[in-house]
Amino acid sequence: MLALGKLLEMTLADHEPAAKIQLTHEGARLRWLTEGALEVTPPADADSGLDLLLSAGIHGNETAPIELLDRLLHDIARGDLKPRARLLFLFGNPEAMRRGERYVEQDINRLFNGRHEQTSGTEALRAGELERLAANFFAKPERTRLHYDLHTAIRGSKIEQFALYPWAEGRRHSALELARLHAAGIEAVLLQSKASITFSAYTYASLGAEAFTLELGKARPFGHNQAVNLDLLEARLRALIDGSEPATEPSPLDGLQLFAVAREVIKRSDAFQLHLPKDIENFSELPQGYLLAEDIAGTRWVVDEQDARIIFPNPKVQNGLRAAIIIVPADAERLG
Ligand SMILES: [Zn+2]
Repeated sequence: MLALGKLLEMTLADHEPAAKIQLTHEGARLRWLTEGALEVTPPADADSGLDLLLSAGIHGNETAPIELLDRLLHDIARGDLKPRARLLFLFGNPEAMRRGERYVEQDINRLFNGRHEQTSGTEALRAGELERLAANFFAKPERTRLHYDLHTAIRGSKIEQFALYPWAEGRRHSALELARLHAAGIEAVLLQSKASITFSAYTYASLGAEAFTLELGKARPFGHNQAVNLDLLEARLRALIDGSEPATEPSPLDGLQLFAVAREVIKRSDAFQLHLPKDIENFSELPQGYLLAEDIAGTRWVVDEQDARIIFPNPKVQNGLRAAIIIVPADAERLG
């Protein structure tokens, strides 16, 4: 196997390879760009026209998707998986991965779309670097641009595998991409309706890619991910990489649950209190009239939406950031 296929080992060892470029037997080119970043270029006569960015480890302790990218890279480096797409593999937060922690100083996934310029530290620098790597990768004209940013969640979820689909002015959410996600085992999609500061929001809104944050189960240490079943996703990624993706079925969205953001609960002060059990699962239902949160100066967050559910409750975020999202069912009428 080519040494550059061991990107994960190199990243965990904080090791820079001597040879930055290697070719597979079939002529695919692997190029090490910087820590945790590897570009794969297929032979020109095999190129499918797809530019596929796969990122994991944006949160350093979310190991199942990191291990998935590692498997794909090993197979490419061995010649067992023959790429026909251009690929960029990114391990998002190497220092946090080495420590086995979500982040070191700041959550990288709140630092994109320029937010990193307003702060400092290792994660701010890395967010800027990830933006440049993604922008360079997606700079080629007339290519299909697709980004999956792979995560596992802090908490359990009533819906195990789901996606967040970013929003941008003038763009419509793609029914084709939703069908592709559904075929990859994703059970629900949250359609965003405003700009955001996550990595997938950056590649979607600023680089014109179709882009998704995928939540794939609960975070566990390396080697303990047997309960996270990524078989369908892995099969779909392999097919996107080697150009063998089957056509999507006639009524592909059957059974895929769509949700829209009703409100983001923003924490304003240290007095913020979230009235939910610590171990509440994502997608838990919220009854109408429920007092969800309280904050400084008598601020009250009461659920007035019908069929509301909660995702990403986290009262420990910094003041000014979102401490939970209230979501409601959405329909497919407004898809492009
Ligand atoms: Zn994550």
